[in-house]
Amino acid sequence: MIEMKHAQLHGSAYAVVDYSAVRRGTRASVGMTPTDNFSTLFELLPIGAYRSAPSGEQLRANSALVRLNGYRSEREMLEVVRDIGENWYVQAGRRDEFKATMERFGEVIGFVSEVYRHRTRERIWISENAHVVRDEQGNVIYYEGTVEEITRQRNAELALQRALHRNDALTAKSQSVTVVCDVDGRVSYVTDAIDRLLGVSAAEFIGTNLFDTMHPDDQAEHRAEFARVAEHRNSGEESVARHRHADGNWRYLASLGSDARDDDAVGGMIIYWRDVTETHLARSRLRQLAESDPLTGLQSRANFEMRAFSAIETQRAKGGRIALYYIDLDNFKLANDSYGHWVGDQILIAVARRLQTLCAGQLLLARLGGDEFAVLSIRDEGATSTIQFAQAIVESVCAPIQIDAIRFDVTASVGVALFPEHASRFVELLRFADQAMFAAKGVSRNTFYLFTPELERQSRARAALIADLRRAVEANEFTVFYQPQVDLTSGQLVGVEALVRWQHPKRGLLEPSEFIAVAEEQGLINRIGLAVLDQAVRQIADWRKRTARALRLAINVSARQLRDRSLGARLYDLIEHYGLPPASVEVEVTESILIEASTIGRDLLDELRQLGVRIVLDDLGVGYSSMAYLRRFEVDGVKLDRGFVKGLPNHPVDTAIVRSLISLARELNLTVVAEGVEDTEQQRYLLSERCEVAQGYLFARPLSVDAFEAQGWLKR
Ligand code: C2E
Ligand code: MG
Ligand code: MG
Repeated sequence: MIEMKHAQLHGSAYAVVDYSAVRRGTRASVGMTPTDNFSTLFELLPIGAYRSAPSGEQLRANSALVRLNGYRSEREMLEVVRDIGENWYVQAGRRDEFKATMERFGEVIGFVSEVYRHRTRERIWISENAHVVRDEQGNVIYYEGTVEEITRQRNAELALQRALHRNDALTAKSQSVTVVCDVDGRVSYVTDAIDRLLGVSAAEFIGTNLFDTMHPDDQAEHRAEFARVAEHRNSGEESVARHRHADGNWRYLASLGSDARDDDAVGGMIIYWRDVTETHLARSRLRQLAESDPLTGLQSRANFEMRAFSAIETQRAKGGRIALYYIDLDNFKLANDSYGHWVGDQILIAVARRLQTLCAGQLLLARLGGDEFAVLSIRDEGATSTIQFAQAIVESVCAPIQIDAIRFDVTASVGVALFPEHASRFVELLRFADQAMFAAKGVSRNTFYLFTPELERQSRARAALIADLRRAVEANEFTVFYQPQVDLTSGQLVGVEALVRWQHPKRGLLEPSEFIAVAEEQGLINRIGLAVLDQAVRQIADWRKRTARALRLAINVSARQLRDRSLGARLYDLIEHYGLPPASVEVEVTESILIEASTIGRDLLDELRQLGVRIVLDDLGVGYSSMAYLRRFEVDGVKLDRGFVKGLPNHPVDTAIVRSLISLARELNLTVVAEGVEDTEQQRYLLSERCEVAQGYLFARPLSVDAFEAQGWLKR
């Protein structure tokens, strides 16, 4: 019976498989004997084949299946993949359908689904066949099946379907009609599409007058046009009129007429009608959009720019003065990302209302886009001073906003620039106010900042840095320094932290504080990070080989890098390539990353962890909620921030914090590394608290490869 089904399902390749041994065997023996009958042919099948336990556990996979899932060997795949059905199907319900079919019929044939290529999470299409193998008593021994990737066929199929669909859509929407009528507009002929345009049949429409359905306001103009057609004096251009559809709505019809009364075959005037309602509405919506922001009803950016520009011109002529306030909400993105766009919208609307109330007497109030607003006001004698008004904006925005059960503490940063003192042209004024806003964020948020020329200088320097950094990424000017991590009891080297440096051709060696933030913001961090990863993994592999010691490598990863899938893949490849135990690599992330990390970022961390890479929480103690986060996120170790280590052992608060962090970490079974250890007193204290691994200037600064080796670290 089993052999028959095989032959039927998979052709001759299967029929040869001998199951008699399995049938005699007990359930427990299956899959435990690696030499069981997962025959060579099975192995050589060009499509994927597997055997799994009823629990879902993968027992065997042939090489085609291993490859399909992005792995290199069966062993590797079975090590990582406990239960392949889990998180495999893109549509969650597919797995249950598969199981239900197996349960009902004992087999599944040609089961097509979209799944994730297991290792890379790339989406692919597959077709599955599977069946249940039972022993003599009818107990399930295992499942067996084949998996064939059909992504290409499937894509071709979808492309074809789309093409057909497009064609249908085009013909179905042919929204043009030909009408023949006499010189007064009485209809003698109309094509069937009139039904689509005005909701009446051709038979109903014939005999009526086409001006009957026309909007009264459009009649005069179109009757005149009609007369011109009759006299052959028309322009030959389309004109648009509103006609009443049977459903009561107005449709916009563009018409083009010609006189064919002399043509016996026609015997009347020909009108071509085209439905342009959608275009017409879209256009007027666009016009409205340009004037006001659809969400808040405030002025749009375009409109604001236009009016502010002319307001400045007017004031210039009059010798008047203007203040421009640039308002940006703090942490709006966080609320928007964590609670969804609807909540984000409600916050924006609430803020807009507050600003509207506050700015009643001001010249202009606009939403520039996103969470940015702007106010333009004339600075009259006797009016509230600019500073007072900026303060009033900050205060009016900062009251909490209640949305459903959640309370949001909204604050804003405001930048102010003055005409004519700071800038004489609008574009510049806007840029300066923006720069001042940026500075307000840098100061403390929830505050305002008045523009100074120094800001403009900084901003130019920043622009120059960005350009320089882009060039440096292309030229690969980044190199890695290594700071030893030392076992405090033995003084031995246990690992290194990789710290990036920019070898600048003119400015020399630059530390991360000079460029990481900008690299992050400009999206350049991913490429820099990959370069660091390449260098550092190669280096640690070399040092491990030369010292024959299990040295660890710690790598810093930023939030943005976590959003990029290539990081995990590259790390995986490198570990493979150098044959490193995954646990010898530590990824250091900061608490803020865990908080901000999008789900993608968290998934990546989970995946890395599953690979065996260690995740370490850097700068522990800096955020106020460390304790809570330690519980919520899965990490393997922590690093005590040097800010706390600094206060050891005499600063009572720091000491208390360090002590409790160490004991908490121990309770949670996490490794602890203290960073920033600069003197022996700190070292002694840490040892007394049983924190055994540390790094800091006491032992060494971050060192180039040459310095590291020259200082004899490989021998410690
Ligand atoms: P971090 O991960 O907290 O790195 C430790 C920083 O403390 C390093 O600064 C190191 O030089 C410094 N440090 C070590 N021991 C002592 C000490 O005893 N006293 C004092 N005062 N400082 C000490 P560095 O190299 O300037 O790196 C700064 C930050 O830049 C790092 O903080 C890390 O967050 C980031 N970073 C460094 N390399 C990379 C990288 O490759 N990728 C990413 N995304 N970030 C990196
Ligand atoms: Mg670090
Ligand atoms: Mg740190």
